[in-house]
Amino acid sequence: MPSEPLVAEHVLEFPGGYARTTGPVIGRFLTELRGGRIVGVRTAEGKVLVPPLEYDPASGEAVTEEFVEVGPAGTVTAWAWVAEPRESHPLDRPFAWATIKLDGADTALVHAVDAGNAKALRIGSRVWPVWRSERTGHITDISYFAPEVTKIVSPVRAEYRLQVGGSLLTFLEGVERGVFLGGRCPSCEKVYVPYRVFCPACGGPIADQLELPDTGTITTYAINNLPDPRAPEVPFVSAYILLDGADIPMIALVGGVPAHEVRQGMRVRAEWVPEGERTKSMANVRWFAPTGEPDVEL
Ligand SMILES: [Zn+2]
Repeated sequence: MPSEPLVAEHVLEFPGGYARTTGPVIGRFLTELRGGRIVGVRTAEGKVLVPPLEYDPASGEAVTEEFVEVGPAGTVTAWAWVAEPRESHPLDRPFAWATIKLDGADTALVHAVDAGNAKALRIGSRVWPVWRSERTGHITDISYFAPEVTKIVSPVRAEYRLQVGGSLLTFLEGVERGVFLGGRCPSCEKVYVPYRVFCPACGGPIADQLELPDTGTITTYAINNLPDPRAPEVPFVSAYILLDGADIPMIALVGGVPAHEVRQGMRVRAEWVPEGERTKSMANVRWFAPTGEPDVEL
């Protein structure tokens, strides 16, 4: 009668860890790691070995008892990309195994570098250790090395309040009533809208306040293809509009006409929001729309 082969499965494992003594040199290295420092040992020739060894690999001589703190930053001297990390690897995302020469060391140590992607890493890349929060005196007290921070992305948000000066307040009070207030310079006779208290041309005070009509002429315009919260749709037209009787144009939206039909010299009139919705703001003017009058020669 044929006999079945005898099979026994064995697993060799030390779940609690396989304890061994480290010797004074490696022991010092690990003890310093637990303290958040990286040290090397100086050889008889004066080189600094990191990680430290008991014997100089170059000469076979015993090293000195001098420990030197190095790093914590270092320079990548070589690396290999790990696209698919294994379970036993220090990172669960793609990373690099790299030889890193820490500042002050003459030899390089091997550790993981979390660079995000392979393109972010090159020979000469500067890296810094990222420490585990609870250190035990093991090489894994350094979770990994990470590239030097060379840029930051900060969210930007500014909140501000504009304090409206006296002349602009006067103008906006007019807009609330549905009129554009301008000022006439007594010496050069130029009419400015919005209303202002000093003439920008001759510097003299402006005392004359006058109401301007809400009709005018487009002097220049721009077709905008980027959305703007103040505009009804894209594309929209913003234009300089010379109100009838004014000497300088003011900027406003143009509406009620396809963007490609807007032209210089086009006659327009302000389209006001209903009286009950008006505030001290230019939002009272929805936009300027064509009046249908013949174009004006500029
Ligand atoms: Zn003037």
